[in-house]
Amino acid sequence: MADTAATEVLNPDDPAGLARAAALLRAGELVAFPTETVYGLGADATDDRAVAAIFAAKGRPRFNPLIVHVTGREAAARQAVFPPLADALAARFWPGPLTLVLPRRDDSAVSLLCSAGLPSLALRVPDHPVAQSLLEAAGRPLAAPSANPSGRISPTTAAHVLRALEGRIAAVLDGGPCRVGVESTVLDLSEGTPCLLRQGGIAQEDLEGLTGPLQSAAAVDGPLRAPGMLESHYAPRLPLRLGVAQPRADEALLAFGPAVPEGAAETLNISPAGDLTEAAANLFAALHSLDRPDFAAIAVMPLPETGLGRAINDRLRRAAAPRPLSHRKVGT
Ligand code: AMP
Ligand code: MG
Repeated sequence: MADTAATEVLNPDDPAGLARAAALLRAGELVAFPTETVYGLGADATDDRAVAAIFAAKGRPRFNPLIVHVTGREAAARQAVFPPLADALAARFWPGPLTLVLPRRDDSAVSLLCSAGLPSLALRVPDHPVAQSLLEAAGRPLAAPSANPSGRISPTTAAHVLRALEGRIAAVLDGGPCRVGVESTVLDLSEGTPCLLRQGGIAQEDLEGLTGPLQSAAAVDGPLRAPGMLESHYAPRLPLRLGVAQPRADEALLAFGPAVPEGAAETLNISPAGDLTEAAANLFAALHSLDRPDFAAIAVMPLPETGLGRAINDRLRRAAAPRPLSHRKVGT
């Protein structure tokens, strides 16, 4: 794919737009598409070259495996082994923002690049009509990490995708803003004990109804179970200051809830009502829009560490973490 080719913007409500997206994917091209969490950067998961192109377009480290999207549990079971707990979770939460890391089947058609050398595979069934139609039309599993340069803020609109990847991907299906707004929860069932690799769109409390109390990857010693859990991620260009009660005059304030301090250069409230579902849906768009060079930093009000607040706080902590040098160059 030439670096200078224009990225096509396709309308998923037009059957020709959807057919074009599916044809591009089948030809090994990259197509971004909406899911209920964030926009995914899709490629034919069974095509090594297409999957390799995802890593190149995102500048993503090769040791970071990819989530593979499928139409349903049956399609997932062709690629990975389902222990009884995985069946129960899939029945309860699919389609939806839950990714299951499962033992890879020996006869799986999915490119080994998606597993990044691990004996497991991460699978998800997206709950979005455009994603579902695209999977049907493409007729194969799609590898789809978030459609942003590695380490940067995830995209929740087609405009976010274009801002960062215009000319580097074949097309984007514009399905409007994403409903959930944070990435999927990632649960590893590939080894004995279930392990929560990433907080996300399904709250830990809701999973625990089926799994019992969950261990989180951060608490487990030993080999890294989620190679993608880099400390610095989802990062705007500006520094972030967390847990702020009083913003400075040169800061932009990311606010939450009804009681907002005055004094910031600009304030964006992701949920004036203090609703965590609404806050998750607005989080990345707010970070995109406050990430302007005329502010010294983004100050963030505290959010509760419950329900979707855990996923939001996880993203914010990583957005605030010290950046590796390479991240400063990405996406510029
Ligand atoms: P993204 O595709 O950007 O939403 O990130 C996917 C997340 O799932 C990353 O944190 C990956 O490290 C994790 N992941 C994907 N596949 C696996 C796997 N086979 N084993 C462990 N973690 C995985
Ligand atoms: Mg991502």
